Amino acid sequence: MPPVPTKIKLAGENNTLTVTWSDGHVSAFPYQYLRDRCPCATCAGDESHAPAAPAVLPMFGSKPLKPDRAELVGRYALQIFWNDGHSSGIYSFEYLRGLCPCAECKSREMAQ
Ligand SMILES: [Zn+2]
Ligand SMILES: [Zn+2]
Repeated sequence: MPPVPTKIKLAGENNTLTVTWSDGHVSAFPYQYLRDRCPCATCAGDESHAPAAPAVLPMFGSKPLKPDRAELVGRYALQIFWNDGHSSGIYSFEYLRGLCPCAECKSREMAQ
């Protein structure tokens, strides 16, 4: 059985979303890091459908990006609702765990 989240804390320290996994591991994902890896079709960069680059970069918008809420999708994924209205990204637990930016996971990734 792959690990599944047992606890998800939307508003952690330093603008992170914190996930505690069933194997005891804890992942802290910075909001921007997560959003940059949004798996939805729009963000995943389907070049043929991508709109022209905007003249004003969204990251300079009025408010900092953060998740408003998150919902479980069945027993396998997490859907994140961002405060800019974007919500089509569904992060499967497996994908999320693979994104874990901690030193331990990073070094395991390099060993493979
Ligand atoms: Zn997206
Ligand atoms: Zn990790």
